Order: sequence, then C-alpha cells, then structure tokens
Amino acid sequence: MSRLDDWRVSGREVSVAGLARSGTAAARLLLAHGLPVYVSDSGDTDVVRAAADALRAESGVLVGVDTGGHDLGRVRNSSGLILSPGIPPESPVVRAAIGAGVPVLAEAQLGLDAMPEVRSMVVTGTNGKTTTTALVDHLLRADGRRSVAAGNIGNPLSAVAMTEPLPEWLAVELSSFQLHDCPDLAPTVGILTNLAPDHLDRYPSLAAYYADKARMFANAATTSIWVSNLDDADSRTMVAEVAGRHLAFSTAAGTRADAWYDRAADQLVLAGRPLLARGDLPLLGDHNVANALAASLALHAAGVDHVVLAAGLATFRPLRHRMEPVREVDGVLWINDSKATNVASTRVAIQAMTRPFVLLLGGRHKGEPYIDLVGPLCERGVAVIAYGEAGDLIEHDLGPAIRVVRGRTFEDVVIKARILTPTGGVVLLSPACSSYDMFDNYEQRGATFRSLVEAM
Ligand code: ADP
Repeated sequence: MSRLDDWRVSGREVSVAGLARSGTAAARLLLAHGLPVYVSDSGDTDVVRAAADALRAESGVLVGVDTGGHDLGRVRNSSGLILSPGIPPESPVVRAAIGAGVPVLAEAQLGLDAMPEVRSMVVTGTNGKTTTTALVDHLLRADGRRSVAAGNIGNPLSAVAMTEPLPEWLAVELSSFQLHDCPDLAPTVGILTNLAPDHLDRYPSLAAYYADKARMFANAATTSIWVSNLDDADSRTMVAEVAGRHLAFSTAAGTRADAWYDRAADQLVLAGRPLLARGDLPLLGDHNVANALAASLALHAAGVDHVVLAAGLATFRPLRHRMEPVREVDGVLWINDSKATNVASTRVAIQAMTRPFVLLLGGRHKGEPYIDLVGPLCERGVAVIAYGEAGDLIEHDLGPAIRVVRGRTFEDVVIKARILTPTGGVVLLSPACSSYDMFDNYEQRGATFRSLVEAM
C-alpha cells in the first residue's frame, strides 16, 4: 500500500507547513486524494492570508488553515508533515513533528508519491542544477517526449501531480534541503552536477551539506543510472560505492569520459562520437559545456540519439539571471549572473570571461572566503566593486590582489561599474552572496540590474 493509502486508512489529518506555492499545491493534492489537511504558516502577510482564504473557500471543513503560527498539538497528532522548501529543519514545527514520531516529508516527495508511474531524471549538485534540469527537459521535448520540469526550478511536483494527463517524464531539480526529506527517491536517471561549499549559513558543516546531497543515491540499485562529474574529486568520492551504472562527463583538458569536451577540435563528444561544435552551444562558459554534457549523457542513457541531442542543444537559450547577456552599451557588455550566490559559481563565471571585466560582488555573506577568486580574477579582471553586508570581507580578501572599489546603493554600484569598465569590456554581476540584505531574492537583484542597464 502506498503512503497516501496508509494515511487515508489512518483517518488522521496530514499537516502541511508553508502556504506559498509548494504548500498550497501539497494541500490541494492531499485533499484531492481524500485526506483531511491542516496547513499553517508562521507568516501573516497579505499574500499568506490570501492563500489561506483561497484554500478555505475551495475545501471547506476538510481543511484547517492557520496563519501567523503553527498549532503544534495538531501537527503532533498528524499522520505526516509535508514541508515547503523554505522551512528550515530546526524550526519548531519540524521539531514538534520529529519529537512526536510524525514522518516529515518534502513536498517534492509527496508529489512524486502521487505519480509513481512517471519516469524521472533528477538533478542535484551545488551549481548548475536549474540549467541542467532545463536542458534535460528541453532535450526530452526535442525527442518528442511529454516532459515537465519541476521541483526547485519553480514548479512544485504536487502541482504537476494534479495535471491531466500526467507527463511521461519529469525533469526534477532537487536542492539539498528537499533531498533531506525525500526518503523514497528512485530516479530513472540521477545527475550530480558538482559539489562545492555552499549554504554554510544553514548547515553545521560541509559534511552535513554533502550528506544531504548523497541522499539522491539512498535507494540505488543495480538497475539505477547515474551521471556525475569526473572533474570533481568530491563528486567522485560520493558516487564511488553507489550501486548502478555510472556515466561521467568531463571538461578538463585531455580527459576522455563518457561525455567530454574535445578542446583541440572545439567540440562536445558523447559516447565516443562527436556531438556538437562548441560554437553551436548558445551558452557562455565551460561550466555550461559541463551542464550540456551531463544532460546529454542522461538523455543518451534513455535512448535519445546524437542527432536529436545536437539539434536540441543548439536551440536551448540561456536562463534568466544565469550568465544572461543583457545588453551592449557603448562597447561594454553587461551580463546578469545574479543567480551566482556562492563562490564556486562566481568562479566559473569569471573563468568564462574572454574580455577585460569589472565584477560586481557582494550581498549577504554566506560563510565562504573570497580568496579563491583571486587567481581567475587576476587574468582579465580590471576591478571589483564590493557592496552590501559582505563588502568589508570582500575588500579584505581581494584588496591585496586587485583594485577594489566600494559601492553603496545598487545604483551606485552600477554607476561605478560604468565608469570603471573600458570599452570592449564586460560588466559581470556575479555576486557570490545571497541578495537578502538589499533585495527580496536573486530574481529581484537581477531584474534591478537589468532595468538599470536598459535605462542607460
Ligand atoms: P543552481 O540551480 O544549482 O543554483 P543554476 O543553473 O541556477 O544552478 O546556476 C547558478 C549559478 O551557478 C549560475 O549563475 C552559474 O554562474 C553557475 N553555474 C551554472 N552551472 C555551473 C556548473 N556546472 N558549475 C559551476 N557553476 C555553475
């Protein structure tokens, strides 16, 4: 019997924490399966209350909804607690459930539970998840398969599970936080893009963060198929003992893998045969070659041929806020990489620069030193504009190696970048920090950058 059937038999409520998109989708899915639901959110904003009202109006007595806090007694009496992605594991609602022996599940796991027959390609890793997930989805569609991209990419799996007909395939992005509570994950193909320090503001240690990433492999079997990064020592270690068929990609000079980047011929190679000329992949940076190789390997393992993959890769377009060229103004190209919220992702963005550039770096510090950026910065970097809460630390780490100018407001940062960047150069917004000191999220930061550049 499935978990949902078990819960129906128990007759008890299922609790859902969080009333944003994922939480409301989870509540609707549970209600559609005939389960009584208790949804609560610690917030009490207009948006949260509107979501609460909508659920009450739709479902009447079957749903209990609280805003501005959780009824922990009710959570303790539930048959399960479904977690929205933003809820930290140490929050009182999670502790209450765990303390009472109530199983805690990610919203993503609930969505997957409700569509056991749909095949999935699951993507995790520190960087490149969204891009690789979008590539996987795009390539599945290029092969004529009905695919939906879901999960952390911004489309709750519980919402997908309510669509008719269900897709044939899911391209699923999962963060470490989601993986933490997806105990039954068994993807048709699982992709680990790479591993690097991140989220040290939310995890007690790097090992704890990696342990959550490793949960993608928890149900590995001999029939499993895994795609991972041969160039990354931590990834190699993580997959070493995992059961199943392993496929690896590499962009390192001179390394031949199941999919690799032949720099001499400037082409991507898959399963020993040329796949695509580098110039035909419309994405900046070697890290995006890695993402394209990872997605291609997964699709090839599912039976998609080189011709379809090459055509699909050539028609993929950069995603918003990820190495996204905004505009060329007076001979200067402005690139929005607002999604680069850790040092590793900013490092690859810098490595993708082929022209002199000014780097906009700053925001809320996440715990990693910036010193790792010095090497690649010194190749073509003209200056760094350090701003936000992390400004002092950035200046301290990078000041000895490169010119660091302090920016105050974001407008001031952009004005200074315009003054400092030589004609023929690039302004790169790749902040290596979260945006929460000055913006609601990285999307707002990227959109602000774009509108300032468009107004020039
Ligand atoms: P994620 O979903 O894992 O955050 P994204 O695809 O949204 O990944 O990309 C986030 C940032 O990480 C981008 O701004 C980009 O500069 C960087 N990035 C993308 N792919 C990779 C990769 N394979 N390795 C390292 N950094 C990457």
